[in-house]
Amino acid sequence: MPHPNTGISAILFTAGALCLAGGFIAFQTRKNTPGIFSLISLMLNLCLWDVSYGLFLAGASQPYPNFWMYSAYIGVVFTPPSVLWFIIQITGAKKWAAPSTIISLCVTPIVILALLATDSYHGLFFGRRQIENAEMILSGGPVFWVNVVYAYILILSGLILLARRFKLTSGMYRKQLATVFLGVSVPLLGNFLFVLKLTPLPTIDHTPLLFTLTGIIFIYALLRYRLLDVIPIARDVLIENMSDGVIVLDAQSRIVDFNPVALQTLGGTGALQIGQPASEAFAPWPRLITDFFESVDLRTELSFEQPRRTFYDLKISPLYDSRSNFLGRLIVWRDITPLKTAHIELQELAIRDPLTGLYNRRYLNDVLTRELAHAARENYLISLAIIDIDDFKLLNDSYGHAAGDNVLRNFAKQLLGQTREIDTVYRYGGEEFLTLMPNCASAHAAQIAERWRHSFQKVNAIYKAASNKITISCGIAEFPVNGKTIEELIAAADQFLYQAKAAGKNCVVANAQTK
Ligand code: GH3
Ligand code: MG
Ligand code: MG
Repeated sequence: MPHPNTGISAILFTAGALCLAGGFIAFQTRKNTPGIFSLISLMLNLCLWDVSYGLFLAGASQPYPNFWMYSAYIGVVFTPPSVLWFIIQITGAKKWAAPSTIISLCVTPIVILALLATDSYHGLFFGRRQIENAEMILSGGPVFWVNVVYAYILILSGLILLARRFKLTSGMYRKQLATVFLGVSVPLLGNFLFVLKLTPLPTIDHTPLLFTLTGIIFIYALLRYRLLDVIPIARDVLIENMSDGVIVLDAQSRIVDFNPVALQTLGGTGALQIGQPASEAFAPWPRLITDFFESVDLRTELSFEQPRRTFYDLKISPLYDSRSNFLGRLIVWRDITPLKTAHIELQELAIRDPLTGLYNRRYLNDVLTRELAHAARENYLISLAIIDIDDFKLLNDSYGHAAGDNVLRNFAKQLLGQTREIDTVYRYGGEEFLTLMPNCASAHAAQIAERWRHSFQKVNAIYKAASNKITISCGIAEFPVNGKTIEELIAAADQFLYQAKAAGKNCVVANAQTK
């Protein structure tokens, strides 16, 4: 029989009761929190371990020899899988989170338990030693050591997961992860010292007590700090699935976190690394670095022509901790290309004539206002030509409206082809067009208009039988000689056009000079 050790037993019973209460409170208050069942499972296993070990040490009567030790072992073997399961859940390690992983983690413990229960037949667990006192639980045969090694592997894997997640996260998650890391490493260290017989009471295994302390801290953190409520799982669901690109920078402008959209936009697999300087990460966006890199709080639009036309709405926000210390920056961007393209198209539509694709009269007003002010400041000339198709009504009447439209489209194309880059062409009215020619004297503009007149006649000679009659008349006014305002200038050009019509059409009148 083991020596009754009632002092330690009492402590173990108290610990067991605390674990049971903790598990119960967790179930009552946080039933719906993801990850809660791993914690409850941990608390119940610890309770079983504490209480059974307490009864074992107290030498309580048992239905058959070693009953308390066997039941303590159930708690022992299932504690490491529970701890790992809990860590998998709080670190959001998706690959591991499948129920099949949890079940397979329990296969080894079940086999170990079976071998323990049948030890009297093969002696693989205790190595054929007589279990006479508490000390016997500390040593054994091959399966005893398999259990120790397996437990260490699971717990160490958990610590690695925590450390990896710690590197990838920041701020409040880090505090949580560090708490869990400490909570798990203390009993691990305690157990290590115990297995090496380096503890003050080498016959007493205080691992269950240390684990209980850990469990209680987890429950306290769960209730007090909402551990599990704001675990990285929430971050994953939110950030990983966002259609916006997200990058978090620390105070030294190194990457702390990023999401898949950010990775994809900035070059794909391997383009971003935790700890990488932001200037390197944003190399594909040099403008961000030159113009906004020092910005802490900013919203702007970025546009790119390569590899395709893209627009981003980008926001940089500062991050502070609860004591207002600057932690870094959050950079979030959204692809607004479809919205922006539609906006540009609408803007274009608003200034274009649908039949010819030329600028419309509304846009002429905007451009002329700007142009005249500019020309007055810089002291240069502008020629403004109004072109009117002769007897267009007759053409419409003879060949139909569609034929008339065709002539208008052809003329527009021709006019565009025969103007300089800096000239702008407008559909001014029904069959009236207007050309604005900065830095061009009216005498020169008249020569150009003569070319239009000739080539229009030629092109339209092919158009239906009577089309060689289609001609144009043109009036050209010059800024500032013929008018200083939009109204004066247009009125003057109109006046010259009227003179051209009066002179028998098919001619150009510029600055009161006939052709
Ligand atoms: P003039 O030589 O004096 O300029 O005579 P005109 O017949 O060309 O001038 P008028 O102003 O009498 O007629 C212009 C015609 O242009 C009347 C109108 O039906 C036609 N028109 C205006 N807009 C369009 C259009 O978009 N398509 C077509 N096919 N015809 C148009
Ligand atoms: Mg007309
Ligand atoms: Mg006309």
